[in-house]
Amino acid sequence: KNNVVAARKKLSLVEMEKNGNRIMVFVRVRPIGKKEKETGSRCCVKIVNRRDVYLTEFASPEDYLRLKRIRGGHFTFDACFPDSATQQEVYSISTSELVEAVLQGKNGSVFCYGATGAGKTYTMLGTMESPGVMVLAIKDLFSKIRTRSCDGTHVVHLSYLEVYNETVRDLISPGRPLVLREDKQGIVAAGLTQYQAYSTDEVMALLQQGNRNRTTEPTRANETSSRSHAVLQVVVEYRVRDAAMNIVHRVGKLSLIDLAGSERALATDQRTLRSLEGANINRSLLALSSCINALVEGKKHIPYRNSKLTQLLKDSLGGTCNTVMIANISPSNLSFGETQNTLHWADRAKEIRTKATDANEDLLPISGTEIDQAKLVLELQKENR
Ligand code: ADP
Ligand code: MG
Repeated sequence: KNNVVAARKKLSLVEMEKNGNRIMVFVRVRPIGKKEKETGSRCCVKIVNRRDVYLTEFASPEDYLRLKRIRGGHFTFDACFPDSATQQEVYSISTSELVEAVLQGKNGSVFCYGATGAGKTYTMLGTMESPGVMVLAIKDLFSKIRTRSCDGTHVVHLSYLEVYNETVRDLISPGRPLVLREDKQGIVAAGLTQYQAYSTDEVMALLQQGNRNRTTEPTRANETSSRSHAVLQVVVEYRVRDAAMNIVHRVGKLSLIDLAGSERALATDQRTLRSLEGANINRSLLALSSCINALVEGKKHIPYRNSKLTQLLKDSLGGTCNTVMIANISPSNLSFGETQNTLHWADRAKEIRTKATDANEDLLPISGTEIDQAKLVLELQKENR
């Protein structure tokens, strides 16, 4: 009987692999900033062979005495992008396959993860001159649709929303918070604008406007949106008549997510509104990693209901969905602790996938509960001190 269970487990993993239910993990280092240069900060990140990233702390003798040891690490990912990588390279290597899958009626999601200032928004949205993954994905989608327009009709709908402090807001037509409701198609944000898009320029303008609508922090006006998650959902509907003149209908959805800064993934001690917000972001980020863990472990129960973000992404994570994580890091030694934190998490996400596809039983010793993850964050934070 045990053999049957084992065989079944193995089969479901093969299925999962076939369906592409795995997490691809990438790391992108941004160029060193002007301010960082001026304050004499040094580069503490090195990328080798496009797959390996080394983190080393250039400690001064005093630092060394204080820290007793030189901290750092070596990690390997599906790909690592150095500061010279172009937006197009990042898009092509990380996301273009997902766009193809969406056209086949599958769902996909891309997450940018990392501390505030690490380059998440640059990677996702970019600038007018160097558009990021969100814009390049839509551009690619349009051009792929154009070449296939003879065999059916495609309609592309966009929605862009934010989750801030466990509140959902429309970024295209900002207004009152949106209520999440369950309907036939799953969880929907009631009243969310579905924007029918035609050109890339239009999309870029729309997203930039949307980003200006993201909640900024009252106390850190120059650091926008570090606690808000921005989610762009691109739904591609495809209709064609088959030989018997029946209408074939296919829907694929791509979710592109600019996550909140990971530096405050755990609530601080202060019993203020700030810490409440921190706790909620913690909730969304932790809930996200719990869901990903549970999915990769092949668990029956996936804890989507634990946060607004995971409720919204329910159909973008499970099933036949492809998931991509892009971990953004700064090269500066001033961000050493945050970078180490980000790389640890990214490394963990990668390991989960590898174990899940290679082994056939007793897949993961990790429980995947939020408490365990909270403990892990605490440990990592201690390590970084
Ligand atoms: P985050 O969204 O993670 O807080 P940003 O994307 O806003 O960080 O990046 C912080 C700053 O660094 C911005 O001024 C951005 O333009 C710049 N930046 C980030 N990544 C790159 C990159 N790959 N190339 C050039 N500039 C970048
Ligand atoms: Mg940002």
